[in-house]
Amino acid sequence: MNILVTGGAGYIGSHTVRKLQAAGHRIAVLDNLSYGHRSAVPADVPFYQTDLLDTDGIETILRQEKTEAVMHFAALISVGESVKKPLLYYRNNTAGAMSLLEAMQRAGIKRFVFSSTAATYGEPEETPIFETAPQQPINPYGRSKWYVEQILRDIAAADSGFGFVAFRYFNVAGAAEDGSIGEDHQPETHLIPLVLFAAMGKRDKITVFGTDYPTPDGTCIRDYVHVDDLADAHVLGIESLRAGEAKFYNLGIGRGYSVREILDAAARATGRVIPADYGLRREGDPARLFADSGKVQRELGWKPKHTDPEEVIVSAWKWHTSHPDGYGK
Ligand code: UDP
Repeated sequence: MNILVTGGAGYIGSHTVRKLQAAGHRIAVLDNLSYGHRSAVPADVPFYQTDLLDTDGIETILRQEKTEAVMHFAALISVGESVKKPLLYYRNNTAGAMSLLEAMQRAGIKRFVFSSTAATYGEPEETPIFETAPQQPINPYGRSKWYVEQILRDIAAADSGFGFVAFRYFNVAGAAEDGSIGEDHQPETHLIPLVLFAAMGKRDKITVFGTDYPTPDGTCIRDYVHVDDLADAHVLGIESLRAGEAKFYNLGIGRGYSVREILDAAARATGRVIPADYGLRREGDPARLFADSGKVQRELGWKPKHTDPEEVIVSAWKWHTSHPDGYGK
């Protein structure tokens, strides 16, 4: 299949591009490189440095590449920033997706895979979280993605030829097994890379945000899914997608680990002492978030290969130690 991957120069997009190529698909990447890395895109993949809001430009690319399906990763991802700059998030994430969908409609492309997020659930009433749980996002980031989910439902209702899969990601971590690509966010805010930077001496320490949560060890519980497992789900998702389908799947391993458990796993994975201190809660962090991922396992036959956080951290460690400056400037 000819697939256009937006955000293919980013963390999850670049890992998925490789998995799609390995499955025999022909890929083109669209990325405005505001956060992506050109060198994360394989040299043999056509690359377009184009913004999502350039509807005409995207339409031209879709036609030129004889695109049959679109996978849409390009988005801003920082919850904190979204609270300060809501319009930026609605423009990039919501209006950007609308522009892309408009270009697709003009070019007659009707297969779409969307990167959604567990943040669309907000503060969950119960865990594990099922796809049918109420969605009440608590920040503009979560809402910017939630709106796109609603728009997709409406498009599918209006056009029986259109089909989509929206994957709601939990905490994505790890790096490609060969250490060639990995996570490089500027600035980095995610737990696992920050813990590894502390282990490498790239930062003094990691601060644990909150030790008074109602969890067994007082720290927050999250569901850490390996980026390559997540990418595999996208391959299954696009290959099984049929006209008229509107599918939503959680992507998590279905088990939660606390921040303290992640620090312990990182110490084992790296053989280093992780310098840590214990601080206050970070605003907007629910105590526990983990998926029920039975639906994607049953319906798409997905099975995460990495269910031990130590393995996930080993892969991330390989990337960070071999690329201490990420992709460089
Ligand atoms: N966290 C932490 N210290 C940090 C960064 C994150 O204790 O420097 C915690 C955070 O409070 C959350 C978990 O680690 O409970 C995962 O946070 P991350 O930002 O990686 O992902 P999120 O769950 O916000 O999507």
